[in-house]
Amino acid sequence: MRTAPMTTYFVSDLHLDAAYPSAIAQFGQFLRGMARGADALYILGDLFEDWVGDDDDDPARSQVCAALREYVESGTPCYVMHGNRDFLLGAGFAQRTHCRLLGDAIELELYGERMLLTHGDALCTADLSYQRLRTVVRTASWQRRFLRLSLSTRRTLAAAARAGSRVHTGSAAAYIMDADPAAVQSAMQACQVRTLVHGHTHRPAVHEFKVADQSARRIVLGAWYEQGSVLRWDERGYALRALPRGGPE
Ligand code: MN
Repeated sequence: MRTAPMTTYFVSDLHLDAAYPSAIAQFGQFLRGMARGADALYILGDLFEDWVGDDDDDPARSQVCAALREYVESGTPCYVMHGNRDFLLGAGFAQRTHCRLLGDAIELELYGERMLLTHGDALCTADLSYQRLRTVVRTASWQRRFLRLSLSTRRTLAAAARAGSRVHTGSAAAYIMDADPAAVQSAMQACQVRTLVHGHTHRPAVHEFKVADQSARRIVLGAWYEQGSVLRWDERGYALRALPRGGPE
């Protein structure tokens, strides 16, 4: 087994689904290779293209759950945050995978650095229609009603929501779909952190700026549709890397 002492990995927006078998395969390789033996793995939302309930028996999702469970059983804790696609991940998922679900957002201290972790959709405050939808689907009553529907109905509704989201993201201006600078400032100031890590926008980058006159950074993880995107953190610092498909593990 390869060991990576005192290393923590972050990924986000894997959007795993049977439609993207190469992403599932790459994530499996990542769990068995690079991430094996790490201190911890954080998945900052949208692990799945969608998640219609913990009773989902879709084979591709089951394969991912089994790989996660095997990874956690190898000795590394894995923390999973809800994304806008898989906000219905619940206790059943945690039981299947042995992963621990995280609230959005959380503060983390890692190797002496305090940081704020979030999926990122809550930062896109200029997208008013999305924020209204987000508020509705995150209520317990909406979720109860949705989860009472049959699995096939939930799958149909999720597919319709994905199609609607594609139309929306295809027509909205680019800045609307990005993290709002004022929302970033206020979240970081409220938590008094100089580092923010998120995904969601699929625009991997490290942005340097000032918060309350101090240098600060926003690290954005990329999506896994075409290649992997990993943030590696250890005592010496961090590296945001793209992982080409079929490249070294
Ligand atoms: Mn997202």
